[in-house]
Amino acid sequence: MFRDKAIETIDKSSLERLQLENLKKTISCAQKTRFYKNRLSKTRIKSPDDIRSLKDLQDVPFTTKDDLRACYPDGLLSVDKSDVVRLHTSSGTTGMPTVIYHTQADLDYWTELVSRGLTACGVTKSDIFQNMMTYGLFTGGLGLHYGAERLGALVIPAGAGNTRRQLQLMKDFHTTTLHATPNYMLHIMLKLAEFDISLKDLNLKKVFLGAEPYTENTRKKIEEFYHIDAYNCYGLSELNGPGVAMECEHKRDLHIWEDSYIVEIINPDTGEILKDGEAGELVLTTLKREATPLLRYRSRDLTRILTDTCPCGRTHRRISRITGRSDDMLIINGVNVFPSQIEEILMKRPEVGTNYQIVVDQRESLDRLSIKVELYAKLFEGDIKVLERLRDSIAHEMKSTLLVGVHVELHEPGSLPVSEGKAKRVVDERKN
Ligand code: ADP
Ligand code: ZN
Repeated sequence: MFRDKAIETIDKSSLERLQLENLKKTISCAQKTRFYKNRLSKTRIKSPDDIRSLKDLQDVPFTTKDDLRACYPDGLLSVDKSDVVRLHTSSGTTGMPTVIYHTQADLDYWTELVSRGLTACGVTKSDIFQNMMTYGLFTGGLGLHYGAERLGALVIPAGAGNTRRQLQLMKDFHTTTLHATPNYMLHIMLKLAEFDISLKDLNLKKVFLGAEPYTENTRKKIEEFYHIDAYNCYGLSELNGPGVAMECEHKRDLHIWEDSYIVEIINPDTGEILKDGEAGELVLTTLKREATPLLRYRSRDLTRILTDTCPCGRTHRRISRITGRSDDMLIINGVNVFPSQIEEILMKRPEVGTNYQIVVDQRESLDRLSIKVELYAKLFEGDIKVLERLRDSIAHEMKSTLLVGVHVELHEPGSLPVSEGKAKRVVDERKN
């Protein structure tokens, strides 16, 4: 199913023509901001006419999260404040939040992108869409809300948390589609029995999972437990929010809407532009944004462009599941470790429950990596030797994959901290 077949299946040369036209408009918008006026004056690109091909964008320096922070609150505003209808900020996962302004046209386009993604996964006006993301400054709430409403679904703006109420809403209103963080979907698994709700009482068919990195094994775990389809939904507040890239019904990673963004992948250390297929940091330029245009924004998210075509017929290229942020990487006694490698190992094990935490501290001036893992309750009823063997086997697999020693602790279900929004998986005590 398509929402806008013409644009979603546009051929490459028409897409590039459209991108060029909109890139010129974006440069002209950008020049109205204090930040880009100053920055562009130092480059070859002094006016939209200096952009003759898409390649010319490479003469513009990257924009970073720190640039956005330095522009707080309005150094990147390109329209008159009276034309702005909403602002959003990032969650502040890695420091001070950034602010993005939207005109009505900006919000309309974002809403269309979300509707497109939902439609590509088969959501229709007959669906009952329960949005379990936080409403407010965080973009996960309102972003998906308006996208689902625009295609005519019945939207339940549940917001995050309060699991008992979430389950009651799902049951009473026969919710078919959810939007949630993967960690919250895992958490609810444990709660069904506690609130005496069986999957048969529910009418769930699909869930859109996003807002934080997670692995294919986590997706599988969620799909198998709930007997539903789980689709990946990616976005960041600086580039609107969720809906920047979404999977289609084939679940072959995420179509990134190239009529709205120019996509580049760079080596995060050198800034060199990488070829399609090579893994690096995602860099995006907005093409349809009036109030806060961004040129070559460094997302810090790690991914790669997939080159094969998708059976759905959409021509917008796909990016692979985000494996983490470039600044997520932990250095343990000199060895690089990504939290996603740890999740990959844990979530493929059937004994491992729904929650885990990574703790790094120092012992006698050496880094120590500990992994706290919740198991299912029934495992604590049997022989302690079984638990010891499991612990040793996880530690052994971690060591051979990560190449660092790992201290594994097994915990009972529900004993590790849970987050209503994005999970906080890593506690790095070395920084305190
Ligand atoms: P913050 O950067 O403070 O967390 P945002 O709320 O804008 O603020 O979150 C966007 C970030 O969330 C992305 O840059 C990415 O790291 C993460 N994210 C969002 N969706 C996904 C997803 N589907 N897979 C992996 N990471 C995601
Ligand atoms: Zn597709």
